[in-house]
Amino acid sequence: MAAVAFRGIDKIYGKDVKAVDNLNLEINDKEFMVLVGPSGCGKTTALRMIAGLEEPSDGDIEIGGVRVNDVPPKNRDIAMVFQNYALYPHMTVYDNIAFGLRIKELKGLFWQLSHFSETKKIKTDIDNRVHEVAKMLDIEPYLNRRPKELSGGQRQRVALARAIVRKPKVFLMDEPLSNLDAKLRVQTRAELIRLHRQLGITTVYVTHDQVEAMTMGERMAIMRDGLLQQCDDPEKVYAKPVNKFVAGFIGSPPMNFMDATIVKEGEAILADTGEFKLEVLDNPAILGYIGKQVTLGIRPEAIFDKNLETHVKASTYNQITAKVDVLEPLGHEYVAYLNSGPFNFVATIDTGTKIKEAQSADFLINLDSIHLFDNDTELRIQVKE
Ligand code: ATP
Repeated sequence: MAAVAFRGIDKIYGKDVKAVDNLNLEINDKEFMVLVGPSGCGKTTALRMIAGLEEPSDGDIEIGGVRVNDVPPKNRDIAMVFQNYALYPHMTVYDNIAFGLRIKELKGLFWQLSHFSETKKIKTDIDNRVHEVAKMLDIEPYLNRRPKELSGGQRQRVALARAIVRKPKVFLMDEPLSNLDAKLRVQTRAELIRLHRQLGITTVYVTHDQVEAMTMGERMAIMRDGLLQQCDDPEKVYAKPVNKFVAGFIGSPPMNFMDATIVKEGEAILADTGEFKLEVLDNPAILGYIGKQVTLGIRPEAIFDKNLETHVKASTYNQITAKVDVLEPLGHEYVAYLNSGPFNFVATIDTGTKIKEAQSADFLINLDSIHLFDNDTELRIQVKE
């Protein structure tokens, strides 16, 4: 079992830089957990505390149910892959991968000379493991090359191989793909997911890239200013963000936010922006907000061209008329920059659209996926689950 847990973890640098603030988070055995958040939110610090490279100011770190605060890094049975993986330039790929195993498993030269058959067996075992991992990562043909004779992607795979070959209890990865170009990132992302399924090793992966977090994490923990905001599976975080920060951080293009007042018209509860009114469906928690200002959140993908056939049907309170400022073609869809009164917002529109820049057009909103946030707490207004 290699579950990892943060229990009431604080990390304070110097006198007053609170990098991690009362972090409570459990990462299950064999889980792929992504720590995500903007620069400086404390994710690297959290990862380094699991590794034992930083000491918590308060609280406990557990690996496999055992408190490891006092266990030195080398005895924690973890492997780390960083953005700046440093391969040994003078060693071949083979030696780079085998190096850690040789240090760990082959004792000094004197011991090797006096334990000849045991040494031979260990060396054969190391050789098998290096080849097995190199094959898995598609770098077997390069085992005799030096790092400078490889592409960036191949070098990154050698760094991964070096970590995997040790069969650690836990993998810690800190932005391991940031040095790769866009295409290679997508490819290596898929490779890492496949590897994780194959090896089933508990993995904690740090990134500031929400797309990476959404696509890779079985669960994702979103941090801000040292504080954990939400930890859930990606679908849940996208559909039910706990607050305005998470709602704006997850999703691309990001969620549109507008001021609105909650009003009651007959039986209908509406979010009234002054320019248009949208009906609030199935959210009894909103009853306490009638007459109050809230923040309305609409994802770009919840806005549809009224003249296109979609699953969203027109009703009294799900329509917006807006001017199209800019229409960006992405091939599979358009990103439309729209304007309605004081509001500028973004919509992703199907390629069949006839809307034109500088003209007004009618749009339908999928009311099932609008979000409302309390203006004081920034929490999403929702029925407690
Ligand atoms: P990034 O994505 O930019 O790496 P991060 O979310 O990983 O950011 P951390 O590196 O964990 O953030 O840093 C969290 C906070 O702690 C930041 O405000 C940072 O300036 C501060 N910090 C990190 N390391 C130290 C240090 N050794 N001494 C003092 N402050 C530090």
